[in-house]
Amino acid sequence: MRLLLVLALVCSAYGKNEELEGDSLYKIRVQDVDQAQTLNELVNIFHLDVWSHPLPERDGYILVDQQDKLFFENELNAAGIEYEIEINNIKESIDLEEQLLSKTVGRSNVSSFGGFFEEVRRYDEVDRYLVDLANRYDHVEVVSGGRSFEGRDIKYLKISTTNFQDQSKPVVMIESLIHAREWITLPVTLYAIHKLVEDITDQDLIRDVDWIILPIANPDGYEYSHTTNRIWRKNRATDYVGCDGVDLNRNFDASWGIASGWFSCLDTFHGRSAFSEPETQIIRDILSEHRHRLGLFLDIHSFGSYILYGYGTGQLPPNGLIIHLVGVSMANAIDRVKWEANRNYLVGNIASVLYPATGGASDYAQIVGNSLSYTYELPAYRNQVNTMLGFLVDPEFIEQAGYETWEGIKVAVRYVAQNF
Ligand SMILES: [Zn+2]
Repeated sequence: MRLLLVLALVCSAYGKNEELEGDSLYKIRVQDVDQAQTLNELVNIFHLDVWSHPLPERDGYILVDQQDKLFFENELNAAGIEYEIEINNIKESIDLEEQLLSKTVGRSNVSSFGGFFEEVRRYDEVDRYLVDLANRYDHVEVVSGGRSFEGRDIKYLKISTTNFQDQSKPVVMIESLIHAREWITLPVTLYAIHKLVEDITDQDLIRDVDWIILPIANPDGYEYSHTTNRIWRKNRATDYVGCDGVDLNRNFDASWGIASGWFSCLDTFHGRSAFSEPETQIIRDILSEHRHRLGLFLDIHSFGSYILYGYGTGQLPPNGLIIHLVGVSMANAIDRVKWEANRNYLVGNIASVLYPATGGASDYAQIVGNSLSYTYELPAYRNQVNTMLGFLVDPEFIEQAGYETWEGIKVAVRYVAQNF
């Protein structure tokens, strides 16, 4: 019995994030577009995990398996691409994150702010919170959009002073955590809910607009990133040959399959067909229901400090100029209050700024809503000793991320309210 217990302990200790032991995060600096192209080829050959794409003016971050490091460095050297190992053992940083976050548990009860968004919450907590808000506030309704692959209920809030009956109001939809590992996006969405429900300081925002907020678009992947693999990105579909999981943000019917992963083991795998996954079907159905008065769609991701718009093929939507100008206004509003050490937001078409990527949620919303649709890439918080960055969340940054992003969101919402 004792032996079994010891074995069980060893196994459980071994399980979580253990496969990341010894993997390194590389900082990559490319000089020109040719080098960026070479790097993309390497990424495909080695199936590397790109945390942030390098651009000539902006360093990128790539996670490399321990056994691929030597090869990878040789290839970079041959191409003359500059690099540095930013984090030698990512597992240590993940352990540090867990330690720091565990200290924040319960802090929202004692802080003066008392906000649910002040901690990184799990699926069950958020699920209960949404129901609780709907019970307590007249202008809030909770809706079950459907179930995830593993059967989790995907709930979203409808926030409206007129019960969604006033057809003259635009609808604003915010969605987060379609990519499981982008944890900071959840407190940001929860902050928005807080400002529309529990701490209303801008009456016009609920008077002039109807809101739909979906905090956890990919609950299975999100829970998996807590229990098993911190850097998991996709959903948890197990009905594919090869590897598990579909990149939900490549699974929408927007030039599906043109610029995305064709093979299940790739992190950008697009699935067997557009909308093959229950999680994307749910977002499709919400958009379809409100498409006639969709004013704004925001898909919140991390990281890199970008506000991106479609299309992922590089072609611009008909209202591309307005989309760009409103995007710049949002970026300016955030930059005014951001932490000094973080870089300014960059605004642009996703294919021009980063890389072609098709099948994304914001492209699909752009097509069906024909309004304003963006992908936010929140800033990467970095602590002073460079042991935490990218997807890893330092509790110190949680409230700031919510606050500054909300400053940006408000600008676009007011534009939509005035021009709808
Ligand atoms: Zn993402």
